[in-house]
Amino acid sequence: MQSTNAQVLVIGAGFAGLGAATCLQEKGFKVEVLEARDRVGGRICDDTSFGFPLGRGANWIHGLDGNPMVELAQRFGVSFSPVDVGRFYTFDRHGQRIPPEVLDAFEEDFENSLIYAKDFAQQSPQDLSLADALAPFFKPKALSPVQQDLFKRKLGFFQGYVGADYQRLSARNWDHELSLPGGHAILSDTYVPIIQGLAASCSVRLNTVVTAIQVRDNGVDVLTDQGCYQAEAVLVTVPLSLLQQKVIHFDPPLPVVKQKAIERLGMGLFNIAALKFPRLFWEEDSRALFFSEFDAESISTFMNYYQVNRQPILLGYSGGDKALKIEQASDQQILAKVMDNLRRHYGRNIPEPEAYFFTRWSQDPFSRGSYSYLPVGASEGDREELAQPASARLFFAGEASNRDFPATTHGAYWSGLREAQRIESGFLLKVNEPR
Ligand SMILES: Cc1cc2nc3c(=O)[nH]c(=O)nc-3n(C[C@H](O)[C@H](O)[C@H](O)COP(=O)(O)OP(=O)(O)OC[C@H]3O[C@@H](n4cnc5c(N)ncnc54)[C@H](O)[C@@H]3O)c2cc1C
Repeated sequence: MQSTNAQVLVIGAGFAGLGAATCLQEKGFKVEVLEARDRVGGRICDDTSFGFPLGRGANWIHGLDGNPMVELAQRFGVSFSPVDVGRFYTFDRHGQRIPPEVLDAFEEDFENSLIYAKDFAQQSPQDLSLADALAPFFKPKALSPVQQDLFKRKLGFFQGYVGADYQRLSARNWDHELSLPGGHAILSDTYVPIIQGLAASCSVRLNTVVTAIQVRDNGVDVLTDQGCYQAEAVLVTVPLSLLQQKVIHFDPPLPVVKQKAIERLGMGLFNIAALKFPRLFWEEDSRALFFSEFDAESISTFMNYYQVNRQPILLGYSGGDKALKIEQASDQQILAKVMDNLRRHYGRNIPEPEAYFFTRWSQDPFSRGSYSYLPVGASEGDREELAQPASARLFFAGEASNRDFPATTHGAYWSGLREAQRIESGFLLKVNEPR
């Protein structure tokens, strides 16, 4: 038995876990965080092989108004730069920039089709995929070549932003998430200093893999590869995929409604391909570059990181099934395809990168994917169910449990605060009341 005088054990030192731990401590609870990895942060981590930190996971603040990440960035001295979406450049298959008015007209048609598709899905006897619901209203074969390119870019959006192909998304509910206003920003100094700032005030046991949680009448036993810990209550913040794959054994088992909700939700995939070149050869003033997709397994969306840290870096994004295929290839194979795509656009004389890395989030044993989404048959109610305590001693947080702001850093953080509040308001009373 490991000694701990913690009242609450938090499983996982990501934004949800550290958010909850700091908040509970402020409320006077004794808290200890058990973390499987040899570092804090979870889906927040840096690569330093370029000589400075670059995020392998989250890099964006989505919505600057009312976002706790802005306040945390300021508190820990982390700078960020707003993203001007007016400087997202989209190119056709001949390498020509598509004029904004053509983009806007396509966008309007597509947005209208999404509204029709949603209505269609609501009236259907059962949920269907976004692809099936869109089919009657949006016919790719009837599109001009430029529109077909734009349609592929849209599909890339679902794959990247949502982490799943539109064939997998619930037509009824895929877009149930709220956006914070105020535009987006990219953290120049990455999220890691924020995570480390939060962790500095917490007691975190690294390299501690939780394998089982046993809830008893008078406490909770948490079994790990480092021995057994005991506490009055436990907050679980591990990613959805680990709950789906039953990596932690719960005794008694989780309520059936909760298990079903966990099964219905989806874990999406989003990967980053970072390339540092000896010089800039792309549009310096651009923020993002969207190229025509020549090869279904190549990366065609890039962020121009020169605008973030004045280094000649392109960050390629891929998501969904495409990202899964790409991450199964070797680094050399991925690089060859990325360079082939860039050469089609910028000519054969562009230099090879001097450094690069490719993330493979589905192969990460403590994440097994990037972030959650709502597949066919799932709804935001499943996120609410995941958020429900399984007993007066067993609580759940994490991005997937945030009904309105899933798949984000602020959503994860807020889910941790939500459970800290819940533990404060109910747990001590319920646990200590006579049985
Ligand atoms: C590539 C990528 C890009 C992203 N981009 C953005 C972005 O730009 N902006 C944004 O807002 N969001 C983004 N996100 C999403 C955001 O990173 C996540 O929503 C958020 O970080 C999740 O925090 P969490 O605390 O819920 O989970 P996690 O950060 O995954 O924390 C859970 C912790 O539990 C630990 N754990 C797992 N199993 C065990 C176990 N058995 N025992 C003990 N510990 C365990 C894990 O190691 C991990 O540290 C991105 C995610 C990825 C992967």
